[in-house]
Amino acid sequence: MKLHEYQARDILAKYGIPVTGGGVASTPAEARAIAEQIGGRVVVKAQVFVGGRGKAGGVKLADTPEQAEQVASQILGMDIKGLTVEKVLVADAITYEREIYLGVVMDRASKRIVLMASAEGGVEIEEVAKTNPDAIVKVAAHPTLGLQPFQARELAFGIGLTDGKQARQFAAIATALYKAYMDTDASLAEINPLVVLPGGALQALDSKIVLDDSALFRHTDLEAMRDSSDEPEAERQAREAGITFIKLDGDIGCMVNGAGLAMATMDVVKLYGGEPANFLDIGGGAGKDKVKAALQIILADPNVKAVMFNIFGGITRVDEVAKGIIAALDEVKTDVPMVARLVGTNEEAGRKLLAESVLIPAESLADAAQKAVAAARAR
Ligand code: GDP
Ligand code: MN
Repeated sequence: MKLHEYQARDILAKYGIPVTGGGVASTPAEARAIAEQIGGRVVVKAQVFVGGRGKAGGVKLADTPEQAEQVASQILGMDIKGLTVEKVLVADAITYEREIYLGVVMDRASKRIVLMASAEGGVEIEEVAKTNPDAIVKVAAHPTLGLQPFQARELAFGIGLTDGKQARQFAAIATALYKAYMDTDASLAEINPLVVLPGGALQALDSKIVLDDSALFRHTDLEAMRDSSDEPEAERQAREAGITFIKLDGDIGCMVNGAGLAMATMDVVKLYGGEPANFLDIGGGAGKDKVKAALQIILADPNVKAVMFNIFGGITRVDEVAKGIIAALDEVKTDVPMVARLVGTNEEAGRKLLAESVLIPAESLADAAQKAVAAARAR
């Protein structure tokens, strides 16, 4: 579950991280009222679950309450990467000298919680990782000992914060962010940018927290923060069709038979750098109607850029599923690329059927995931 910037900001503030003040508005008039309270220059920021809002025109400065109202009316209702802006954060605009990145993530490779920092803040960390990987400094927290003070200092020095006072403040922020991450059972906690103010002090300007859904039962207070405006209608349709479906935020639609296999499919998609658009289990013995309903549900999501079928035929016969897919594709018109990995009972017959279809065949689960990720990126 993703939290909005303002929600993440409130959590970080509780941990003693300096954040910008201000409040949330759903109307231009509310934005103006908040700006009046703040007094002086404000920044109006779209509260949507995507990064790069700045570049998309979702972050604007305003010198007066009137201007704040005006830019809020521009940003509210705006479409940013397929999401409609329903709320804006109105915060005091900060003058700063530098932008830094600081994040806490679960790192699969090292099986540790890793803190990352970069002197190149403000841009997405994935971008820095691609263009200038040496600019990213990482430390891995010990599973039982946690983040050690020397590690937090190592991060500070690693990004060139050599002034003692500044390094200490950075280390304190890193430690607080790590603690917030652990306490909330987050899968990501990020401050980007963390800015250096003219006097040298640090302040969080934008923050992001993603919570681990599986741990939400331990955090009813956090679960209550869920923004249900993004609660998908598709989940209801799926229930009616007897399909288990959970919408996610990625762009690769997954159609799988079996819950365990569906989970594994999402893991592998993520492993190859993709983001699943959904969890979908069509269940055993799925025929044409179910496949069709599932496909319609997947394609109703405008974020979907590729669809991946992962069918393991046991009692379910692969050729039957293949017929279902072909029949469904006859009725559901789309140009979204589709990758199919079908193995198991009657695999040969199934593959023959699909050879004449538009589906991109895949040899293995890994192959299918890589092809789906590539197809999605190409769009
Ligand atoms: P994102 O693009 O979705 O990550 O949104 P951010 O909150 O990170 O804002 C994007 C950019 O807007 C920042 O990198 C800054 O350049 C600018 N910005 C955001 N808040 C302020 C502010 O208070 N003052 C100033 N001067 N610029 C800001
Ligand atoms: Mn940002």
